[in-house]
Amino acid sequence: MLFSPYPKTKREELFDRERELKELEEAVKRRERLILLLGLRRLGKSSLLNVALNELTYPSIKVDVRKTYSEFSSVNRYVIGKMLLSGMSGRKKLVEEAKLFLERVKGVSVSGLKLEITSKDFSITELLEALNEYGEKAGRVIIAFDEAQYLRFGGATRYDGILAYAIDNLENLTFILTGSEVGLLFDFLKFDNPEAPLFGRYHHDVILDRFSPEISAEFLRKGFEEAHFEVSGREIEGAVGELDGIPGWLALYGYTRVTKNLRHEEAINEVLGEAKSLIQTELSKLFAYSPRYRVILKAIALGYSRWKDIKDYLTLKLGYINDSNFSALLENLVKSGYVEKKEGRYIIPDPVLEKVFRE
Ligand code: ADP
Ligand code: MG
Repeated sequence: MLFSPYPKTKREELFDRERELKELEEAVKRRERLILLLGLRRLGKSSLLNVALNELTYPSIKVDVRKTYSEFSSVNRYVIGKMLLSGMSGRKKLVEEAKLFLERVKGVSVSGLKLEITSKDFSITELLEALNEYGEKAGRVIIAFDEAQYLRFGGATRYDGILAYAIDNLENLTFILTGSEVGLLFDFLKFDNPEAPLFGRYHHDVILDRFSPEISAEFLRKGFEEAHFEVSGREIEGAVGELDGIPGWLALYGYTRVTKNLRHEEAINEVLGEAKSLIQTELSKLFAYSPRYRVILKAIALGYSRWKDIKDYLTLKLGYINDSNFSALLENLVKSGYVEKKEGRYIIPDPVLEKVFRE
């Protein structure tokens, strides 16, 4: 269903995105080793990744790093190792074919279709080496890290170093990293830092943008048609205007209308309500770290777009802050994609979040 509110897995459910899907799949077929899939939250990165992994014939393993981090409060090598192994467990063809190689990895046990870490000797690098050998047989193995900027919380496990080693030496692996917090992802990967392990490495970037107004309207029309739900052209226009080409919000609008039989305004309110609770979960860590983040977001949502005006608003509300501390907070919001800097002005790129922050 086009409006399903979960990441899509099948091509039929993925609207548009033909070009991006093709670009991603061809990069894998060209045997590229590092592919980044970038774009704001809710533009459909996980969906695109799922569909591509489903369509490509190579074996693949996907780890949702954000979810892993929130579940385990860490992404050390045992945690990521466990997720990689559980991503393979139960998959008959894959386990049977890869078994020979995986059994040789220290600290990994294979029993039936179940793969587990059994000792402290476990090393991610060895696991990747084994997958590379399997990849030689299988054509390639794709390892996807969804929301990979969370790999920066590896503690003693340095994933940038591990990735650099794998990219240089393990020719049968392709890594796909997605990231909503693009600035944070690049901070972690440090391609531009001569001291960093991934310095100068080639990466193919696939960039997801929002839908154009025409495509957004087409998406809504198609989705309502599929659900046999009548809507007027004016409502479609209204929704496109308010939700501004972000597929996640458009889908949610359609989904609540169809499943709860809501009128236009009610569905828009549902979307705003959902955005509020998402902000609470997504941003709670940031807000706990400093209450100033919330006030900065509010200032920008209210239309203060220059550095100085935002700082004045913040000072008025929460008292003195020095320039460099303020800049650091603002920069963090930019790096995590909640704020965008355009021609010297700061804006909130997501109109739904903007509306919620304004309150
Ligand atoms: P991201 O990973 O970028 O945050 P998701 O893939 O989770 O985005 O998509 C967010 C929501 O939007 C999901 O409910 C998904 O079903 C929907 N969605 C995203 N892109 C599309 C698309 N091209 N066609 C249909 N639904 C989409
Ligand atoms: Mg996602």
